[in-house]
Amino acid sequence: MKILFVASECAPFAKTGGLGDVVGALPKALAAAGLDVRVVLPLYAGIDWNALERLEGTLGVPMWSGTAWCGVRLGRLPGSRVPVYFLDHRHYFDRPYLYGTPGEGYADNLERFSFLSRGALELCKALGWIPDVLHAHDWQAALAPVYLNTVEWAQPLHGTASVYSIHNLSYQGVFDPGAMPVTALGWEHFHDHAFEHFGTLNLTKAALYHSTLLSTVSPTYAREVQTSAYGAGLDGVLRERSGDLHGILNGIDVVEWDPAADPRLPAHFAAHDLSGKRACKAALQREAGLPERPEVPVFALVGRLVAQKGIDVLAQILPHVLDWDLQVVLLGTGEPDAERYLAWLASQRPDRLRAWIGFDDARAHRIEAGADFFLMPSRFEPCGLNQMYSLRYGTLPIVRATGGLADSVQGYEQASGEGTGFVLHDLTPDSLGDTIGWALATWYQRPAHVAAMRVRAMRQDFSWERAASAYGELYRTAYARRRGHAFPG
Ligand code: ADP
Repeated sequence: MKILFVASECAPFAKTGGLGDVVGALPKALAAAGLDVRVVLPLYAGIDWNALERLEGTLGVPMWSGTAWCGVRLGRLPGSRVPVYFLDHRHYFDRPYLYGTPGEGYADNLERFSFLSRGALELCKALGWIPDVLHAHDWQAALAPVYLNTVEWAQPLHGTASVYSIHNLSYQGVFDPGAMPVTALGWEHFHDHAFEHFGTLNLTKAALYHSTLLSTVSPTYAREVQTSAYGAGLDGVLRERSGDLHGILNGIDVVEWDPAADPRLPAHFAAHDLSGKRACKAALQREAGLPERPEVPVFALVGRLVAQKGIDVLAQILPHVLDWDLQVVLLGTGEPDAERYLAWLASQRPDRLRAWIGFDDARAHRIEAGADFFLMPSRFEPCGLNQMYSLRYGTLPIVRATGGLADSVQGYEQASGEGTGFVLHDLTPDSLGDTIGWALATWYQRPAHVAAMRVRAMRQDFSWERAASAYGELYRTAYARRRGHAFPG
C-alpha cells in the first residue's frame, strides 16, 4: 500500500513540537510493516541541503497567481529507507522561522502552505507514483485532501483516499475570508460545509469535511474534541463526523528514551534492577543543589510553562506543597509571568525547589531518570509525550485525566496497589495539592506499592509498532471507503 505523508514538520529535519516527532517516527514504523511510505516537506532554511540528492528538472505547481516552480531534493528518514521529498522554493521557505516570528505567523502563510499541499500532489504525478492514501497532518497540510476532491477530480489522483490527523486543535489555520482566492479554489467552496467558519476562512474545517477519515493522537482526545469544552469551535463539525474520527495514541522513540542505555545518564537501570535509578536521583539532587536525601521523594516537571499544562494551577498550590517533606525540580520555558514566579519561588525555598528556566534536552533526560514523580496537570493534552517518558523511566506520573494522559496512565488504586500513576479529575489547586499529598503519603506509607507501580510502569509498551498497526487498519478502511472495495492484498 502506498501512503503519502504531507506535513510541515518532520524530525530531525524540522520540528517545533509533537507533530514533528510523529511525522519523523510513524513512517519508519509503517515502512517496517511493509508499507511504501513517502513524506513531502518544505525545504526550510536550516536543513542541510547539501546532504540531499537533487532530483532532475523542476516541478510546476499551479497557484492562484500562476505556476510556481520549485526544485525537489530527496533525503531519507535517518535509520530507514523512507524517502523524504523536500520542495525547494526559496521565497516561501528560506526564512528564519517555520511559521513566523513567535506569536505572529508570516503574512503569506496561506500561500506558503497552499503551495506545500498542491506541490505534494503535483510531485506524485511527476514521479508517476500514485498513493493509495494521502495522510495530511494539521492545518498546514489541510488543503491536500480538499484538492483531491476538487482540482484532482477525474484526474490521476481521484482514487486516492485521505486521512486528516489533528495533532493540536488549537491551531486551525484561520485566515481572512478575502484570502479565499489564494487557495486557487473558487468562491463556491466558501460555505459552511467547507472553508467558511463564522465569517473566517478555516483550513481545518475544510479538511474535516473533505477527508475520507479523520484521526487524532489519542482515543480520549478524539472524544473530547467533540465537546464544546475542548472542540475549539469545531466540535459541531467533529460531532457530525463522529463515526469517522479515530483516536490513536502516539508512540515514543524507545531508543532515544531508554533508561538502560541513555548516554546522558550517570547510571543505567531497567525494570529488573533499579539500583541505577538511585544513582541518577542522587546526581539529580546534586545538580539541582538540593540536599542529597534518598528517602525524600523528588517531584519533577519538564515542559512548556503555559496554561495548557496547568502551570497556573500548580503555581497556586506550590507554596503549600513546599511545606511538606519533598523536593521539586522544574525545567521549562513559557509565559514570562510563570517563569519569573517560579524562579522567585525557588530563590525563597532553595532547600526544596529548583527551577531551571530554559530548554535543555539532556537535562530533561536526567530529570526523568532521577525523579520519583512527574507532574503533568494539563488542561488539555492531545497525546503528551512526557508522561510516557516518565513511565519508561520508572517515574510515576501525576496527571489530570484528559486526552492522552487518561489513555496512558492507569490511576493508582490504594486498596489493591494497582496502577501506574496518580490521576486527578478537577483542575483546581486543592485537587492538585490533594493528589500530590496522596502520592507523598503512598511514598512514605506504602513503599511496596510505589516499587510495584514503577516496575509496571516501565513494562508498558509505547513503541511506534503498536500505533503503526492501528494506522495501517485506518488506511485500509479509508481505501475501501474511497474505492468501494477492499485493498487488494
Ligand atoms: P507539548 O508537545 O505539548 O509541548 P509533549 O509532552 O507532547 O508536550 O512534548 C514535550 C516535549 O518537549 C518532550 O519531548 C519534552 O521533554 C520536551 N521539552 C519541553 N520543554 C522542555 C525543556 N524546557 N527542556 C527540555 N525538553 C523540553
